[in-house]
Parts: sequence; C-alpha cells; structure tokens
Amino acid sequence: MSNTSEDDKFSVERDRMVKQQLKARGIDDEGVLDAFRTVPRHAFVNASDHERAYDDRALPTRSGQTISQPYMVATMTEALNVQNGHEILEVGTGSGYQTAILLELGATVYTVEKESSLSERARNTLEEIGYDHNISFRVGDGTKGWPEHAPYDRILVTAGAPEVPQSLKDQACESCRIVIPVGSKTKQSLKILRKESGGVWTTESRTGCVFVPLKGSEGWSD
Ligand code: SAH
Repeated sequence: MSNTSEDDKFSVERDRMVKQQLKARGIDDEGVLDAFRTVPRHAFVNASDHERAYDDRALPTRSGQTISQPYMVATMTEALNVQNGHEILEVGTGSGYQTAILLELGATVYTVEKESSLSERARNTLEEIGYDHNISFRVGDGTKGWPEHAPYDRILVTAGAPEVPQSLKDQACESCRIVIPVGSKTKQSLKILRKESGGVWTTESRTGCVFVPLKGSEGWSD
C-alpha cells in the first residue's frame, strides 16, 4: 500500500514546524531549515505519538528516552555550523533524530551511545529511512570520545555535562567547534566552544536547556 498521502501530510507538518517553531525564533541557516523539512521526525517516535511528532515539544521515543524539542535540535545544529564533508563526533545517539539531521547536512557522523538497546534501535530506524551511509555507531562511554577516528571537525554532545570532558577537547581539529550543554543534572546552559589558532579555546553561552545527564568517566557518576 502506498503511503503517499500520509507522507504528504507529514511533509506539510514539517514545513509548518520549520516556519512557526524555527524561522519564527530566529533559525535562519537555509541548510539547517532544509534538513528539518526533510528528516521524518515521526519515524523516531512511538506510532501513538505520530500526530504529535511535529509539535513544539520534546517527546518520548520508541525506546522510552526523550527526543528533544525541534527548536533545541535546530539551535544546536545551527551553532555547530556544519559544512559538507565534516567529520562529526556525536555523543548521545538516543533516537538518532539529531544524527539524521547531521547526515542530511552532508557530514560523516561517528555517534556514541552508552545504552546498546538505544544504539541498535537508532541504527535500525536510520537504516529503514535510508540513512545508511557516512555513519558509524559505537556503544560505550562517549565522554572519552572515539579516539580511533579523531580528530573531528565538530563535536556535539546531546546530554548534560558537569564540565566539558578533556578527552573531547583532545580529539578536536584546528578550528573545531564543540556544542555541549553544561551545568547541573537538572538544568544546563548550552555552550559553544571554538578552537582558535594556537589551540586556544573560547566559550560562548547560548541558552538555558534541560538534557538528561551525561554519565561516564568524564561526566556524572552513575
Ligand atoms: N540526540 C538524541 C537525544 C539524546 S538523549 C536524539 O536526537 O534523540 C541523551 C542520550 O545520551 C541518551 O540516549 C543517553 O543514554 C546518552 N548518554 C548519556 N551519557 C552518555 C555517555 N557517557 N556516552 C554516550 N551516551 C550517553
């Protein structure tokens, strides 16, 4: 059976999400907006939540975790300033929705998730909808990065850290950016770190946010 009318309906909902939730709040990078118009967010949530997939909120995922509010994913993605061909380390695969957005922008993504069931689920979802290139999955503690593929052009952490893990800074290219929520277990501030010439890091604080804790040897202890 063809899903064309359902696909059309979701496509209309995505366009509306982009206009009302992203553009209206100042996200103006056309590449980023296009990625949000393209990635089928409903594929990452429970079937019972399909009608809410493009709402202005976080939602539970198919694995009992949380998929962030579209605006937060867009804010982080825009802050990362992804260029075609960038090698990106992502910590916290979760549902894989953010991973799909990065792939849509032409990046090669190395994504680390500490829960094997989530990593497996994300891989299956991504494959089902055609994201099976330029992506490598690892199960483990992402606070240590993924040294075998370093250095990275960009590093994105989608869980809340007590501080920026040194191992991630050590795996950064010249002119790397790291986007990471830093703060307490219940509330963080989105930090954008830029590696300047000479290896000096500058840090900008963007917005308040609430992510699940980054747990690991350079994160929160269990
Ligand atoms: N970006 C995801 C949301 C991630 S939620 C999405 O778009 O759906 C945060 C994820 O970080 C959770 O899945 C959690 O299990 C994972 N996580 C927490 N600490 C981690 C660590 N040290 N290494 C890797 N993943 C971690």
